[in-house]
Amino acid sequence: MSQPAANQTAARLRLRLTATAETIVRSGHPWVFADSVREQNRAGQTGELAVIFDRNDKFLAVGLFDADSPIRVRILHAGKPQNIDSTWWSARLEKALGVRRDMFDARTNGYRLIHGESDGWPGLVLDRYDTTLALKLYTAAWLPRLDEVLALFKEKISCERIVLRLSRNIQPFAEKQFKRRDGQILIGAPLEDAVVFSENGISYEADVLRGQKTGFFLDQRENRAEVENLARGKHVLNAFSFSGGFSVYAARGGAVSVTDLDISAHALLSANRNFALNIDYPAVAACEHKTVQADAFEWIDKTSAKFDLIVLDPPSLAKRATEREGAIRAYERLNMLGINRLTREGILVAGSCSAHVSAVEFFEAVRRAAVKSGRKFSELAMKLHPPDHPAGFKEAEYLKVIYLKFAREA
Ligand code: SAH
Repeated sequence: MSQPAANQTAARLRLRLTATAETIVRSGHPWVFADSVREQNRAGQTGELAVIFDRNDKFLAVGLFDADSPIRVRILHAGKPQNIDSTWWSARLEKALGVRRDMFDARTNGYRLIHGESDGWPGLVLDRYDTTLALKLYTAAWLPRLDEVLALFKEKISCERIVLRLSRNIQPFAEKQFKRRDGQILIGAPLEDAVVFSENGISYEADVLRGQKTGFFLDQRENRAEVENLARGKHVLNAFSFSGGFSVYAARGGAVSVTDLDISAHALLSANRNFALNIDYPAVAACEHKTVQADAFEWIDKTSAKFDLIVLDPPSLAKRATEREGAIRAYERLNMLGINRLTREGILVAGSCSAHVSAVEFFEAVRRAAVKSGRKFSELAMKLHPPDHPAGFKEAEYLKVIYLKFAREA
């Protein structure tokens, strides 16, 4: 992939870093923060390649420069000098695709093809929803390269449509400089509504044009399947249900009733449609599906209803590092509220997607809540990232789920 047009004649962008940052990059970490850049030969342009040299003037790494982000360079390659040409990009894509080649059978056509930094494509996510791909960019550095990225995707990945999604912070720049907007169809036929895809034989809609992330939480696939295995004969509460992802599995697994609880009416309408899409499964047809639009913290606190299985998978409760401690307390409180609503042998499925709260901190918070309940419990399982959402470095680790089963009092 070439340099952005405006910079083709300029000298290569060369950077030197602080000693600490040098060590971090050498160890394989993909981010260079702006305040770690010690020297720069000229002003860089967003999207161009920056070559990083170490204190002995030796090649250290090469990455994508982003003039406006605190993450100033996202590393593409570190180690021996490397030419970042079309062969290299092609191999990099093949690697991500190869990892997924035998990961899913024909019953699953919704999964992540490229998971950002951890697949060597920093700040870029590519999700497949059947024949539609959703391409989400988290750094403006990809915008000048978008045509070439698309040409490569078209060549290597079979699909009928590619939709562009942009993180909010880069939308104004994308519109102004590149006439690219969030929800734009890059390739294929126009789209008005959600697309439908399947996961383990369950059909779901994904609002790829406007939905959160790329339209669906593909990362919870393994936990949804686990919930299906646990749901037989149970009354299930799915709090922070979004479009009812966990709920349809619970229903197919034989749940007697499933209650979707979300603050968003829009999400609950989608949950209704997702149930309707799967009504051909007798167990889904037989399951009583309810929706409650409310603040989950308040509703769970006030309700007198009890459930045999409760899924608590809230949005990130720590958007930044400074919110970490408050988030840990909020997880503990939320799970205490949940445990209070569990029947005697109930099961709690507690999730967190806050990258700023570690798995250990989260699991401890849930365990504290369980201990404070005074009830006996055992841990059924703990789950981290699924294989199509690899986490290659510490900051990329966000997903963790713990399963607790409560016991009849002795
Ligand atoms: N568990 C879902 C993903 C959850 S996304 C899945 O596996 O698909 C977070 C959801 O929480 C969103 O749908 C959002 O509308 C909802 N939400 C955010 N704050 C909430 C609150 N205070 N009470 C209830 N729902 C809330």
